[in-house]
Amino acid sequence: MILIKNTQLYAPDNRGKQDIFIAGGKVIAIANDLSCWQQAGVTVINGEDFIAVPGFVDTLVHFTGGGGEGGFDTRTPELDAQEAIQAGVTTLIGALGTDAVTQSIEALVAKTKALKLAGLSAYCYTGSYHLPVVTLTGDVQKDIMFVDEIIGLGEVAIADHRSSQLTMHQLAQASAQARVGGMLAGKAGIVSIHVGDAKDKLSLLEQVCADTSIPIQQFYPTHINRSHALFDAGISYAQKGGYLDFTTSTNEQILASGEIAAPEALAKALNSGIAPQQLTMSSDANASLPLFNQQGELIQMQRGKISSLHQAFVSAVNEYNVPFETALASISQNPAAILKLAKGKIAEHGDADIILLNRENLAIEKVIANGKLLYTKE
Ligand code: ZN
Repeated sequence: MILIKNTQLYAPDNRGKQDIFIAGGKVIAIANDLSCWQQAGVTVINGEDFIAVPGFVDTLVHFTGGGGEGGFDTRTPELDAQEAIQAGVTTLIGALGTDAVTQSIEALVAKTKALKLAGLSAYCYTGSYHLPVVTLTGDVQKDIMFVDEIIGLGEVAIADHRSSQLTMHQLAQASAQARVGGMLAGKAGIVSIHVGDAKDKLSLLEQVCADTSIPIQQFYPTHINRSHALFDAGISYAQKGGYLDFTTSTNEQILASGEIAAPEALAKALNSGIAPQQLTMSSDANASLPLFNQQGELIQMQRGKISSLHQAFVSAVNEYNVPFETALASISQNPAAILKLAKGKIAEHGDADIILLNRENLAIEKVIANGKLLYTKE
């Protein structure tokens, strides 16, 4: 049992000064004064110097490792659960990427279970960049219906030289399977879409929505901040009701080549009139981030960092003037709602996934996941 006293609560909406009482993995009560719970066996945290926010929800993490696109020595490692915890990510969704040969759904589901045993809330997508889909049971619908951890399909690559060069029809069929599996299982059944830098951009998704009865909210396209051209296409896609996800992992070279930093993209999309609920950020952690020399030769393979999610949130608030609640919702409430997960909020009877941020600099001071205090900054 944990009692947080006198903390500024953003749930993500601003709830002012509150006490929060946690027991059995859940938030039991939120009120101005819960001193009645200040008794033996209860860990009391003085929250005066902290801001309490929901645990972050990261919808794209290559937690079994990724990459390998520069040869076998460029594969990236598995994500360490501690790294996620210290980054404030208490809910994360894993995906395979380009490589579904040395990586497998079996390994992905196993890693998902391992992250759950470490105290996190973890899920994954079946499939990879490519169609036909690699699955656990041999069928997308069955994967989503019978495997607790699997909540959708992805990340399916479009507009990319590494995609399976799929047709509108192939994408529609795979999406229908995910959709029906999700409906029957009471899950999102969403299709996570990796959007590359090819000129067709989001047109395949728009075609599926125009030619079939699959709604635009079936898709969850990511990397929309990879270029100004894709961002502009994303705005017109979002104006039709679609979701947009911005990738927070980056490096100076990628930004210099025309990528828009995720917090800047978030601010620009909001300024373009897109509803905040349609906008999210994810880390793309443990994906490979190649670094080239001036001759264009690969000199180093870096990996995306899960900590970039929190950094992008802070940057959105401090550098791009995104309101605190709005920036916070883009990495908590919004992705949880899109994925139909009862996460991303601090509410009575809800799961106790709570981060205590330093009031001054928004650094992560303590992380509580499913009611357990998993991290305290030294
Ligand atoms: Zn991707």
